[in-house]
Amino acid sequence: MPNFKRNRKTKIVATLGPASSTPAMVRSLFESGVDVFRLNFSHGSHEDHQKRLMLIRDLEKETGRPIGVFADLQGPKLRLGTFKNGEINIDKGMHITLDSNPAAGDEKRVYLPHPEILEALQVGSDILLDDGKVHLHVIKKGKDSVETEVVAGKKLMDRKGVNLPNVLLKVSSLTAKDRIDLEAALKMGVDWIALSFVQRPEDVTEARQLIGDRAKIIVKIEKPSAIESLEKIVSITDAVMLARGDLGVEIPAERVPSIQKRVVRACRLAGKPVIIATQMLESMISSPRPTRAEASDVATAIYDGTDAVMLSAETASGEYPLEAVSIMDKIAADVEKDTLYRKIMDAEHPDPEKNSSDAITAAASGVAATVSAAAIVNYTTSGSTTLRTVRERPSVAILCLTEYMVVARRLQLSYGVYPVHTADVDNFGDMVNKACKVALEHQIAAKGQKLVITAGVPFGTSGSTNILRIAVVE
Ligand code: PGA
Ligand code: MN
Repeated sequence: MPNFKRNRKTKIVATLGPASSTPAMVRSLFESGVDVFRLNFSHGSHEDHQKRLMLIRDLEKETGRPIGVFADLQGPKLRLGTFKNGEINIDKGMHITLDSNPAAGDEKRVYLPHPEILEALQVGSDILLDDGKVHLHVIKKGKDSVETEVVAGKKLMDRKGVNLPNVLLKVSSLTAKDRIDLEAALKMGVDWIALSFVQRPEDVTEARQLIGDRAKIIVKIEKPSAIESLEKIVSITDAVMLARGDLGVEIPAERVPSIQKRVVRACRLAGKPVIIATQMLESMISSPRPTRAEASDVATAIYDGTDAVMLSAETASGEYPLEAVSIMDKIAADVEKDTLYRKIMDAEHPDPEKNSSDAITAAASGVAATVSAAAIVNYTTSGSTTLRTVRERPSVAILCLTEYMVVARRLQLSYGVYPVHTADVDNFGDMVNKACKVALEHQIAAKGQKLVITAGVPFGTSGSTNILRIAVVE
């Protein structure tokens, strides 16, 4: 069978868009190294996303490899109204009022189509527009309006994005559009739903109630308030994305690197996958080569111990989608070979929790390194044993055997996991034989190499991992 094994453990997420929606392109992206695809519901129609998902599912059938897909909901992305001339020139010290009048604006006033935001703004609040290029400061609060002074910025254009760094908004992270998109995405059959602008743990709970067990949840960390309750949010979500684009507008840029480290650590401690996203190879939207700083940024995320790195416009609308994936693939492979990388992964090792599953998965990681095994093999029904193995950041591959396709797909987001969809086993002999057979078939191990196998006895019960077995592949 053709070999789609990666020579790295860190996973690659790529966003599909106008530049990457033909069957040939989706296939090439996968062959270049994409493990999980992102459908960005901020752009495109449901029909566009449905078509992309079908291409991925066709590719999955053709290659026999599970591929993860998530729908990224736009969330309450705030936008300004319009201007009579499409834009206005502004300057430091000028006053401009934001109000609830939908009429086109001018140098004196402009529409802010979010009444709840006008209400939440106070004298002293900061308003950032156009990715932080414009900074307004609220100096007077009126009825349904606020008067602001320009702190920085030269120009304001129609419908530019609005960020309110230090205001906790009384809005749900799911807008009316998100609710419609959510149902459409679930109906299409995506594996994950990503929630934008989560502010509080309740936002996750609310989404969970709507989603039920139809998909798993990825929380996008892009609001300062989410960082304040980071540990709580991580404890109730299934995965996290550090969405550095909006985050870097809402907080000072110099705080992004340390927050990135904190978020990766919190996720590893909790045993949940984390994605580092946005502007990773931004210049590759129009250049075939990354800047050295971008290569370093991707490498840093990997040294931090992230599960996955993500491409946005680079693959959705850029000129060099395949080159961007290939570069990420090469950077990850190179970093993971560095002895310093292994030292960092080991030094950051979280203690196992005091239960059988953690005892076995922690032991498996140690045993695999000691006997130079080719891989750890997990039999898992829910995927939880594999998530606990991933938490160990073992030095060898994790071959995950599961009878549930959706579990295999979701585990594509996790560090080092090579998922295989296959029937469960019901006895020791089969457990060893199947592990060896699949490892050989997928070129995870060669004859004579060792595998460290974990499973739960009695077979077929979830959450019962309690055995570890060293096998030699024959
Ligand atoms: P977005 O999220 O692309 O949906 O805005 C990513 C980010 O904010 O970094
Ligand atoms: Mn965002």
